[in-house]
Amino acid sequence: MINCLLCNCQLTQKLTISNIIFPGPLKQPIICSGCFQKFIRYSSEGSCRGCGRKEMNELCDDCQKWRRHYGWYLEHYPLFYYNQAMKDFMQKYKFQGQYHLRGIFYETIKEAIARIKYDILIPIPVTKNTLLTRGYNQVTGMLGDIPYTELIIHQNHQKVAQSKKDRQSRLQTKQPFLLKQGVSLQGKTILLVDDIYTTGRTLYHAATLCYEHGSKRVQSLSLAR
Ligand SMILES: [Zn+2]
Ligand SMILES: [Zn+2]
Repeated sequence: MINCLLCNCQLTQKLTISNIIFPGPLKQPIICSGCFQKFIRYSSEGSCRGCGRKEMNELCDDCQKWRRHYGWYLEHYPLFYYNQAMKDFMQKYKFQGQYHLRGIFYETIKEAIARIKYDILIPIPVTKNTLLTRGYNQVTGMLGDIPYTELIIHQNHQKVAQSKKDRQSRLQTKQPFLLKQGVSLQGKTILLVDDIYTTGRTLYHAATLCYEHGSKRVQSLSLAR
């Protein structure tokens, strides 16, 4: 018998311990349906074509600003709303080091990614400091065995964690990323993956880098928005 990873209630389906310990396909539920229902799936209906926000216009104000600034806007696919349940999950998974929670959205992420056409999937990296203190990149953790290439790395300067900055200073930050040396993205379609889309700043930095290195199209996906 296995318990729900979030509320600890007993799940009826059997799950082997290897499913929990090793990354890979997690077909059986690892959280109960009650917990899963608290996460609200994103619907693209009546949403901004860029970031997916609920919006009257085709492109929301923020995405129009990005388009004016860069000459393009990012096609972003959020999977869930950033509601209280998602906030609680992130708190445990990302900030309290509960790495065993990484497979909860595996099937949803895999399904969504399978519907997107791309050549290279690039996860948003965490800083060396974060990797040292957290011990893992929360994005690659959630991807499991879905193929990805860590082509984007952090520049060598110290960086204050995103979550500690206010919205305004996040919008103004300088390019924090580099592409790994010797990599060409010429003519490639890129899918960037991050955990949360807040202002879009991080993904726009990463996308800019891809376009500067020859990408023909950049799309992005986040677990929550
Ligand atoms: Zn539960
Ligand atoms: Zn938008």
